[in-house]
Amino acid sequence: MKKVCIIYTGGTIGMKRTENGYSPVKGFLKGALEEVKELHYPGVPKFDLIEYDPLLDSSNIAVEEWMKIAKDIYRLYDEYDGFVVLHGTDTMAYTASALSFSLQGLDKPVVLTGSQIPLEEIRSDALDNIVTSIIIAGEGKVPEVCLYFNNYLFRGNRVMKVSSDEKGAFESPNYPELAESGIHIRYRKRNIKKFGDELKFYEIKPKNVIVLKLVPGFSYRTFAKVLGPDVDAVIFEGFGAGNLPNNKSGLDEFLKVAEEYNTNILICTQCQRGTTILGEYETSSELKRAGAISCYDMTTEAIIAKLYYLLSQGYTGKSLKMEMEKSIVGEVNV
Ligand code: ASP
Repeated sequence: MKKVCIIYTGGTIGMKRTENGYSPVKGFLKGALEEVKELHYPGVPKFDLIEYDPLLDSSNIAVEEWMKIAKDIYRLYDEYDGFVVLHGTDTMAYTASALSFSLQGLDKPVVLTGSQIPLEEIRSDALDNIVTSIIIAGEGKVPEVCLYFNNYLFRGNRVMKVSSDEKGAFESPNYPELAESGIHIRYRKRNIKKFGDELKFYEIKPKNVIVLKLVPGFSYRTFAKVLGPDVDAVIFEGFGAGNLPNNKSGLDEFLKVAEEYNTNILICTQCQRGTTILGEYETSSELKRAGAISCYDMTTEAIIAKLYYLLSQGYTGKSLKMEMEKSIVGEVNV
């Protein structure tokens, strides 16, 4: 009999309406899952549920919670065939990305899921998301950190939350799905990869990273003011293929201040699909010359998690650029 460990961190899935809006309720989900008939059918893996305390809305989840989840999976790894992490949808893509860097060399699934409508409400998407995630985790065919939602299994570090009110809350714009759940669960074998031979845990520490989204009319001088000795990196979300205006003043000054503070500069694209190509247009060539790091087709969520991970391992400057610009766990296509 297959055995799955469910780590329940919070999120809409187990929330109830309170006078201050939806909020997670201690003990509720465990009782509710015991009543779900599908989870007791023959062939469905047995599961243990670890409920975190406090249960969190995922807006309150950050590096400390990522590490708690990663350490629990690492500690319990040999006892289960797979893991399901129940998580709020708002920051699930960040947690999925972070876990993919923190737990490298997996040979069993770690599946994140949640729901847009709480389990106890009518028309909830929670039940299918939980039941199918448990089955996928037990079947053990995907040795990756992945995210199951609304009939699709995606690579965890390729997803973004694209909708706050549709059941299809997640998309993986630059990498195809790992599986599709219809009458059967169809795994797309060629999209599934194993990264590393042996499970290794890597610590991720909090870092100071700022994402600057360019808008027409922004000022490099204002941007320069956010730089300082505590800022580890700045990510420009550029236009199109990673372009920035080069016909206005202030860029040289910005780069000078960044150099003084040793700030790592990265560039990604504001577009959901496609990639960053520094130097393709004149409007990105100055940053290319200045040694900016290209994020290619990574999601902002994956960039943040990868940066925190690499900075935590001591990478900076040229070595950071080298690691950022290659795939570690399938997060980027260079
Ligand atoms: N605010 C909730 C959370 O991220 C939303 C959800 O779970 O869908 O925890």
